Amino acid sequence: ASWPTDGAIKCENLVIRYAPDLPNVLHNLNFEIKPGEKVGVLGRTGSGKSTLALSFFRFVEPTEGRILVDDIDISTIGLTDLRSRLTIIPQDPTILSGTLRSTLDVFNEYEDAEIYEALRRVHLIPSGDSAAVSDEVNANVFSNLDSHVSEGGENFSTGEKQLLCMARALLKRSKVLLMDEATASVDYATDELIGKTIRHEFAQSTILTIAHRLRTVIDYDRVILLEEGRIAEFDKPANL
Ligand code: ATP
Ligand code: MG
Repeated sequence: ASWPTDGAIKCENLVIRYAPDLPNVLHNLNFEIKPGEKVGVLGRTGSGKSTLALSFFRFVEPTEGRILVDDIDISTIGLTDLRSRLTIIPQDPTILSGTLRSTLDVFNEYEDAEIYEALRRVHLIPSGDSAAVSDEVNANVFSNLDSHVSEGGENFSTGEKQLLCMARALLKRSKVLLMDEATASVDYATDELIGKTIRHEFAQSTILTIAHRLRTVIDYDRVILLEEGRIAEFDKPANL
């Protein structure tokens, strides 16, 4: 099986600054996340949440320390490989123009039926009996894989783009998912759909969700509270 098989995460003495003459943004972070654990990351603006997420994809390299996924130091893995095996759902995903099919299946690897199944599992199209699709979601567009996707995915809302990224992660059977919750208000229904998808469809995957409210991650296993690039708390949500 291909790495990562379990999705265990370990940060060892992680220090990050963006340039030698700039201050540290993350100060010596040490933490471990077990396979399949759902962990929220909270903290005020500028506390280093996105920097932490980006460092898993080596968009920022550690100044000191290292990140291990299933005991492999991610700095030893090729960038393309690394970025295709972990999934990041950014604050505002960029989506290339094309069709819904090409968006979800960049390398033409999957059957249409598998792609429709992934769209169902993220609630972008109705799953038979369920009325789970929110009124906000344009189910017609998602029911046709030939639907046109305009440059940047401008015909989708931010929440829909995040759900599309999650559908892609399901197709890839991604074991590690990092999600940077949209800052721009995602409507309540879409927020619920994202939460439901994480609980039910990614039960076996390790999830790190950057959230703006404790409410979003209240049913997660644990929450990291970042304060100025340091871990102030790492505990069950109920204890915060
Ligand atoms: P928000 O809640 O607003 O998204 P955040 O917790 O995600 O904030 P980061 O984006 O990780 O915060 O930023 C942490 C610190 O690093 C901030 O002081 C920010 O100004 C700085 N920073 C972020 N990106 C860069 C960059 N590319 N170059 C230099 N400094 C940066
Ligand atoms: Mg951020």
